[in-house]
Amino acid sequence: MMTDLSVSTLMGIRCAADIIRGSKHAVVLTGAGISTPSGVPDFRSKDSGLWEKFDPFEVASLSAFRYNPLGFYSWLRNLARGIFEAMPNPAHYGIARLEQAGYVQTVITQNIDLLHQRAGSKNVLEVHGSMSSLTCTSCYRTVDALGYIEPYLERGEAPYCPACGSILKPDLVLMGEQLPARVWLKAQEASKNCDLMIVAGSSLEVLPVAGLPMRALENGAHLVLINHTPTYLDVRADVVLHEDVAQVIPRIVAEVLGE
Ligand code: ZN
Repeated sequence: MMTDLSVSTLMGIRCAADIIRGSKHAVVLTGAGISTPSGVPDFRSKDSGLWEKFDPFEVASLSAFRYNPLGFYSWLRNLARGIFEAMPNPAHYGIARLEQAGYVQTVITQNIDLLHQRAGSKNVLEVHGSMSSLTCTSCYRTVDALGYIEPYLERGEAPYCPACGSILKPDLVLMGEQLPARVWLKAQEASKNCDLMIVAGSSLEVLPVAGLPMRALENGAHLVLINHTPTYLDVRADVVLHEDVAQVIPRIVAEVLGE
């Protein structure tokens, strides 16, 4: 056993592993903190460096997109490049292993970076949308983003609808935009029906997603929180680990799987 973690952290890891082993319907809720070890900036956070030159409501809001889509795409390009170049980290892989081993039923993520899927997670609910598809602003046709990524990242070409020629909007939830209804409904259902919620890399500050663990608690679920900073639910959780997700989650997984 490595000794880089404190005794209380090691006890927390063991306790979290016991709870996971005893659960039948665990749900993992992840936020930007799970992707920061992969180098992905949090596009909603003031600390991300993305807003030093820009006011988020002037570029990353729905009204800004409608007013100036080309300005939006020019702003998004660096962030998009960072996302497509990022690799999943040990926390993403650990969560995928828990799903493969049958302990985790659903991953609810606030992230748009596809890293859970690339790590092998199958049942992922992207409540803030994702970079994998685009929707036409006129005829609402949805297309796969794959064919548009390279021309955009390489040459800054904005994507246009193959059917009607109007500008396409990435299917990520911008400020001032509703969450995708069907996905959000599934996330609420999963939170209500789980017997364990593991929150990883989220400070639980962005509503309405931050309310999901409360829904789980109201229905008698256990709660495990792994985040660098405290959250409003630390007092209600069975286990709280203020640690690096990429360091702690693989240790929990190894403990669960008896490695
Ligand atoms: Zn169209």
